[in-house]
Amino acid sequence: MSPILKVDDISCQYEGESAVNHTSFDLDKGTLACLLGPSGCGKTTVLRAITGFQKLAGGSITLNDICISSARINIPPEKRNISMVFQDYALFPHLTVEKNIEAGLFGKDPPSRKAAVVEILEYVRLSDYSKRYPHELSGGQQQRVALARALAPKPWLLLMDEPFSNLDFELREKLGHEVRELLKEIGTTCILVTHDQQDAFTFGDVVGVMNEGRIEQWGTPYNIYHQPETRFVANFVGDGVFLNGTLVSDGKIQCELSQYGERDLTGDVSDDRIQHDLQQIKPGSGKEVQVLIRPDDIIHDDDSPTTARIIKKAFRGESYLYTLALPSGTRVLTLVPSHHDHGVGESLGIKLDINHLIYFDR
Ligand code: ATP
Repeated sequence: MSPILKVDDISCQYEGESAVNHTSFDLDKGTLACLLGPSGCGKTTVLRAITGFQKLAGGSITLNDICISSARINIPPEKRNISMVFQDYALFPHLTVEKNIEAGLFGKDPPSRKAAVVEILEYVRLSDYSKRYPHELSGGQQQRVALARALAPKPWLLLMDEPFSNLDFELREKLGHEVRELLKEIGTTCILVTHDQQDAFTFGDVVGVMNEGRIEQWGTPYNIYHQPETRFVANFVGDGVFLNGTLVSDGKIQCELSQYGERDLTGDVSDDRIQHDLQQIKPGSGKEVQVLIRPDDIIHDDDSPTTARIIKKAFRGESYLYTLALPSGTRVLTLVPSHHDHGVGESLGIKLDINHLIYFDR
C-alpha cells in the first residue's frame, strides 16, 4: 500500500529566510501523526505547505497519488480535499451547530448536505445539540463541532493546529483521547501540530520532532522518548540530565553513577551504534560520551547505602520530581511516588534502574 501523503524533501522560505529545510515524511491511510517542536521550528509552515497556503521553494507533496505542491505546481487549497481545525475552532457565532457544519459542505445538493450533517453529528455524539449556537456549548463541545465541520466533507487528510492549547491540562488530555478514538473510528488520516509533548504522546501513532525547520526524528512516542536519536530530541522530550562518562570495551559506560547500580550502565551490545562505537575503541582506552539519565532511571530505596541530597522538589500529583545532588555536586532527577514526602536538604537513598541506555558523543 503506498502512503496517502508523501512530503518529499520540502523547503519553505519567508522573504528568502529559510523556515522549513529539506523535510520529508510519509503517512499511511488512517495514521494519526503529530509534529512536535518548540515555537518557531516550522511546524505551522509545514501545515500551510500541505494546505496550499505556503509555496514550496523545493521538494514536493503528493496526496492520494496526486502531486499537489512542488516548486512548479500549486493546486489551490479548496481543491485539495484537505480539512483544517484551528486553535480557536473558528465557528460562526450566528449559526447553529448544524448550520456551522453545513457551511463546510458547499457544492453539495441540500439533501446530501442534510444527510452528511446528521451522520457526522452522530459520530461526534452531538445529535441533540444541532439547534444550539456555539455560545450555548462547552469548550469541548465547540471543539467537537469544529471537528464535525472539518470531517463532514470526508477529507483525505485532516490537519489540526494546536487544537487543545486553549484547554486546561485535565480537559486537554481527556479530549486528546476522545478525538483520537473518534478519528480512529472514522479511519481519518490526520496531522496535529503541537509544542506540547503530552498532546503528542496522547494523540499520535507517530511523532515527528522538529527543530530549526527540520524533522530530527520520526517515530512512535515510545521510540521518541526511550530511543532519542539526537541530543535535541532527548532534551526536548521528557526530563533528564546528561552525565559525562566513558564507553569502555565491554559495552559498559563508566560514570559517576556506575557505582550506584545493581545493574551496570550497559548498552544493548547488539545495537548497531554501540557495535560501531566499540569497534572504534582501542584496547585499554574508551570513548568519551554523555549519558542521558531520565528521572525514572533512578529509583528511591530507603535501604540503599547510596544517598543523595534533595535540592528541589516539585509536586506532580501522583509523584514528586526531586532534584538531587550527588556527593560531587552533580545533579540528577528522580521521580518518586508522592507518599514518600521528603524535605529539601534531606538525604534520599537511591539506586539505578536503567533499561534503555542513551548516550551521545561528548
Ligand atoms: P509556533 O509554535 O510558535 O506557532 P511554529 O513551529 O509553527 O511556531 P512557524 O510559524 O512555522 O513555526 O515559523 C517558522 C519560522 O518562520 C519562524 O522563524 C517564524 O518567525 C518564521 N515565519 C513564520 N511566518 C512568517 C511570515 N509570515 N513572515 C516571515 N516569517 C515568518
